[in-house]
Amino acid sequence: MNPRILLIEDNAHSAYLAGFLLRARGWQVHHAPDGASGLRLAAECDPALIVLDIQLPGLDGHALARQLKADPALAAIPIVAVTSFAMPGDRRSVLASGCQDCIEKPIDPATFVDLLEAHLRPEHRQKPT
Ligand code: MN
Repeated sequence: MNPRILLIEDNAHSAYLAGFLLRARGWQVHHAPDGASGLRLAAECDPALIVLDIQLPGLDGHALARQLKADPALAAIPIVAVTSFAMPGDRRSVLASGCQDCIEKPIDPATFVDLLEAHLRPEHRQKPT
């Protein structure tokens, strides 16, 4: 069982809310406020899943997802994007970058963690306690 989730999010309010919801469900949340530290933390903490904001300073979410998927050691980690983009083409481009799914902001606290956990690999499906 891998109890770690990596949250890559530059907005302090969004990071607080997502982190709060995940911790309430037993996850250890590792937070990176930008793409470069997200890439470094992904290798360090070997998360069960990555929650990825698309609009980030520096390396944006699309570029970061492509780099994660290009690294054989990290490619298997599911990535779920979180974005305030509302156009259908934006969703397609997020999925084309290698993300498994795309959740729209503002997130719904009632469904957010369930939506993420649906993308866990089978060996990580059992929730942390
Ligand atoms: Mn952002």
